[in-house]
Amino acid sequence: MNLQRSYLTDFVSLLFPELCVACRESLVVNEHLLCTGCRYNLPYTNFHLQADNIVARQFWGKINLEAAFALFYFTKGGKIQNMMHEFKYNGMQQIGNLLGSIAGDQIKKNEIFNSADYIIPVPLHKKRLRERGYNQSACFATGLAEKLNAIVEKDNLVRIKSTQTQTHKSRFARFENMQEVFLVSNPEKLINKHVLLVDDVITTGSTLEACGAELLKIDGLRLSIATIAYAE
Ligand SMILES: [Zn+2]
Repeated sequence: MNLQRSYLTDFVSLLFPELCVACRESLVVNEHLLCTGCRYNLPYTNFHLQADNIVARQFWGKINLEAAFALFYFTKGGKIQNMMHEFKYNGMQQIGNLLGSIAGDQIKKNEIFNSADYIIPVPLHKKRLRERGYNQSACFATGLAEKLNAIVEKDNLVRIKSTQTQTHKSRFARFENMQEVFLVSNPEKLINKHVLLVDDVITTGSTLEACGAELLKIDGLRLSIATIAYAE
């Protein structure tokens, strides 16, 4: 029976081999989601080794951060884009957990990140959450939390109204558009805590800035940021 099952599994995987979510080559035994080549050679930023990295600099003069990190450089048409597409639009939540765990292994070596008490994912609007079925940033947060021994705080930061499409707006207009959109429902819990705010891809940083500004209204709260990818 087992033998038959294994033949059947082999046969199915011959017809439908599991593909690497980044390069789309067939995976071999013991590879899961990412092939070994991608696992080691994706465009890692190593921003955890560089305090004044480009993500950190994006927030200078705007919100006060302890540290900022992105796991990968995002390039259009590249492997990271393939992977993020599978993650966000093909229901592959496991990718978020895996990337959270890879990111966690890197940043836990940095004392600042390792001191995070809570990990807060940027919330999706309810309507978007219903459509997608999961918040991609929360999947990333879960993987990170295990490595950092921190707690994922999912429902404290809430998005209180939907934003209009932002594609044609200027950076300032985008920031304005994000204002008043996020609210902390239980601020007392976060007093004097170090919060790691996480999102999937950082582009203009306006969403993270709006969330961060809201969180920083809380007494003694220290804030850091981590994202899966940084897009120039
Ligand atoms: Zn690959």
